[in-house]
Amino acid sequence: MVAFHAASGAAAGSLSRSRLAGLVAGPLLHVAADRVPHRHPRHEAWEYVTGMLVIGLLVRRRGLFDAATLGAASAVLPDLEHLAAGRRRKLFHPFGPERRDGAGLSVEAQLLLSATLLFPVLRRPGSEAIDGQPTPFHRGRADKPA
Ligand SMILES: [Zn+2]
Repeated sequence: MVAFHAASGAAAGSLSRSRLAGLVAGPLLHVAADRVPHRHPRHEAWEYVTGMLVIGLLVRRRGLFDAATLGAASAVLPDLEHLAAGRRRKLFHPFGPERRDGAGLSVEAQLLLSATLLFPVLRRPGSEAIDGQPTPFHRGRADKPA
């Protein structure tokens, strides 16, 4: 589900073309997606590996401060409370521990949905090409003559 969170946040940021909208939409999409019954990979580390892979692709293709990248990062951040919060009441996951009974959206379906959302985002150039302001991470590429 982490990869799906990243992909949905990236799509929201990309469609809005607004860093602020991406940052706000990410956690909202996270909470909504977590309400959909879903399964988890057998090894929890895969959740984080695939999530980081999605964000890495976005940074490489669209830049660190692109709306799509920021949307993806903000959509993933709520899951950090699983790592940090222990048994305290959780802000983004107030409904208790997630079910792990093998019911719900399969891991394969989640990855397929994620790829479907990500494909158009990764095909399009980042917002630095939209507002004409190259980010520090894209100056080299942006300065090249067309
Ligand atoms: Zn979550």
